[in-house]
Amino acid sequence: MRKLAEEVRDLVHEVAGRVVALRREFHSHPELGFQEHETSARVSATLSELGVEHRNGVARTGVLGTIRGVAPGGAALLLRADMDCLPIREENEVPYRSLRDGLMHACGHDGHTAILLGVAHVLTRLRDRFRGSVRLAFQPAEEGLGGAEPLIAEGALSDPDCEAAFALHLWNSLPTGTIGLREGAAMAAVDEFRIKVAGRGGHGAEPMATADPIVAAAQIVTALQTIVSRNLDATDSGVVTVAAIHGGKAYNVIPESVDLLGTLRSFRPETRLLLRQRVREIAESVARGMGCRAEVEMIEGYPSTINDPTMTRFARKVAEDVAGSGKVVDSRPVMGSEDFSYFLRKVPGAFVFLGSNNPEKGFVHPHHSPRFDFDESSLTVGVEFLSMLALRFLEERPARR
Ligand SMILES: [Zn+2]
Ligand SMILES: [Zn+2]
Repeated sequence: MRKLAEEVRDLVHEVAGRVVALRREFHSHPELGFQEHETSARVSATLSELGVEHRNGVARTGVLGTIRGVAPGGAALLLRADMDCLPIREENEVPYRSLRDGLMHACGHDGHTAILLGVAHVLTRLRDRFRGSVRLAFQPAEEGLGGAEPLIAEGALSDPDCEAAFALHLWNSLPTGTIGLREGAAMAAVDEFRIKVAGRGGHGAEPMATADPIVAAAQIVTALQTIVSRNLDATDSGVVTVAAIHGGKAYNVIPESVDLLGTLRSFRPETRLLLRQRVREIAESVARGMGCRAEVEMIEGYPSTINDPTMTRFARKVAEDVAGSGKVVDSRPVMGSEDFSYFLRKVPGAFVFLGSNNPEKGFVHPHHSPRFDFDESSLTVGVEFLSMLALRFLEERPARR
């Protein structure tokens, strides 16, 4: 494997400039979920140029590529990159700034797509060196719209049947050159809640003749804070956030209703159910106690991202060889969510954080910030890591243990 690792490093070096150019092209031309037409056309053109067989238009704008080793037989694994941007107006002044007003790659998915194309470059050049297949999944719509589920439904993990799945995420909480991993729950489950507090409006000077939904909504917001502090086991984690309150227009009119919007985060399925149940109970009973009525709607989001222990240990070994053992860290659980979780429900695998923070170069802004940008030297680390991961997976077959 020593020799192969050197060959991979040479190929990564060879493709590095191309990966940065692709990343910048994607960054300048961001597209929202299920609208990644230009991005997937570029992905498809690059795969064609490399001679990688692939299928376009999977889950609308996704692309599934397959690189098969020359030797017959062998296993298969999936590597995934997400391609969508966010509805954010970029505030960076860089040459590769977004050319689309109000749209921005503020999460690093431009980098993920470029990295996976770099991996395609490396692995096609080494087809005579491995047995088995690597599925390259270019996924649409990670940011909330749920591209993973339809991509899987349309065959992402089959033909060849993938026995494991891996993905990485550029991560501005970790320094460039480091790789973060975590066995078990890596990212949280997310649910959205909407509460309509319906009262009876009237004159602001005569509250006794009304059922004031503003006061009831305020009590509900405060009471919801007791879910994490009073209902959750102190060793468990969860978040209940009310992120929007809409109600009323005039200073002297008590409105008919108030709308609350918020989000729930959790790791364990039991906790997820508890949070949903308590939001409902508290909203309904507090509203009733104040003469109002609460209608609670729960919108189920992504499940938590659970890394398989065997696969995580395997990925850690690869990370240590690529980045150096001092550069591999135990990442903290993240309360954000990720639809790679759907892949990990089907097959074992791991979701890995690729350090991309660099204060000296000014890459310090968090994901989803209008100033987000990342250290592009992390891209080659990502290409080398995923390439080695695939090659060693097919050689060692850790899934079979
Ligand atoms: Zn994001
Ligand atoms: Zn992301």
